[in-house]
Amino acid sequence: MFAAATTTPNSLLLHRPSPAAAKVAMDSSLRLPARAAGISCAAVATPERGVYNFAAGPATLPLSVLQKAQEELVDYRGSGMSIMEMSHRGKEFDAAIKKAEADLRTLLAVPDTHEILFLQGGATTQFSAVPLNLCASPSDPVDFVVSGSWSDKAFKEAKKFSAASVAWSGKDGKYTSLPPFDAIKQNPEAKFLHICSNETIHGVEFKDYPEPKNKSGILVADMSSNFCSKPVDVSRFGIIYAGAQKNVGPSGVTIAIVRKDLIGNAQPITPVMLDYKTHADNASLYNTPPCFAIYICGLVFEDLLAQGGLAEVEKKNAHKAGILYDAIDGSDGYYICPVEKSVRSLMNVPFTLAKGGDFEKQFIAEAAKEGMVQLKGHRSVGGVRASIYNAMPLAGVEKLVAFMKDFQARNP
Ligand code: PMP
Repeated sequence: MFAAATTTPNSLLLHRPSPAAAKVAMDSSLRLPARAAGISCAAVATPERGVYNFAAGPATLPLSVLQKAQEELVDYRGSGMSIMEMSHRGKEFDAAIKKAEADLRTLLAVPDTHEILFLQGGATTQFSAVPLNLCASPSDPVDFVVSGSWSDKAFKEAKKFSAASVAWSGKDGKYTSLPPFDAIKQNPEAKFLHICSNETIHGVEFKDYPEPKNKSGILVADMSSNFCSKPVDVSRFGIIYAGAQKNVGPSGVTIAIVRKDLIGNAQPITPVMLDYKTHADNASLYNTPPCFAIYICGLVFEDLLAQGGLAEVEKKNAHKAGILYDAIDGSDGYYICPVEKSVRSLMNVPFTLAKGGDFEKQFIAEAAKEGMVQLKGHRSVGGVRASIYNAMPLAGVEKLVAFMKDFQARNP
């Protein structure tokens, strides 16, 4: 059924899409009329906080989470202290981190074979930690799919601690596509295959994941910008890592989900803080963790569970993204999303205006006046980027779509 709707070799149907993701690709490629057509900008609900924040990260958080944190900020659950002021070894924080971990395990159905670690240093630190932990020496080969700026950065860092190769690169296509999986030139001797599941800058998202062909069968994913946006079969991954500051919390904490048998073999030069064993042996409390950030992640996990879990969250995300891509594709080329339809991100939607950079600036400035902020594309690529993570309300996307139509009508 999807075969008729998709035209590219790396189409979703090759990669077993989740139903919600497939629907977005299909709607967009069929150029269905935008579902938000007819909504006038002013008629769309006013955001509760005065603006809709389309930032790529740190990004918008659920209002209910911020309110709960505000309520508990000064006196955490009757303790007379803020959670920021407490020992990370005290009973309150111990309960908070254990609950956060348990809720994340439930949300993502993380099997017992995998450890959940709360780390520091951002996802960027994982670019070094992964090869340090998975390679016996810097001469061990590893494979990278380079699908955008973030996987390129991960690859370059990995070269310091491993013999990293590019198994596929999207650079010539300006990072607007992903390969059919059999086009990834995997080295059977590689210690792992690394992907970035969602390229935050370029808006390219894996809808399914390649099978690692290396002997150890290890797939590693940087999921920073689509972590907890949909269900994922964690058992397929050796390591999943993600900075929290897009979908699940503030900056300051990075979550790593690591297969237990991969822990404990780090290269001898590995700094203690980059060795997964350090953190696994100490339940993420080897040193002082980012307590407040972990606490906020815990509140977000509770909120995601209360929404019905990640299958429900994915449906909402697919609906929001579908509206936006339909608006772009239905604009007669006024707005252009360069990303191949089958791999368009549900989280980060980059687009340009055919009329050029000055109009993009005007678009971004006028949108900000209307209460839609942080829409500027990444400094490396320009254009417009709407990041529509879990916490972006549907009304925010509807308002953006209505504004896009207004803007086009006013500036033909
Ligand atoms: N990977 C991806 C996909 C990202 O989007 C980012 C941050 N935007 C990073 C890695 C780097 O994360 P951090 O800033 O937490 O080091």
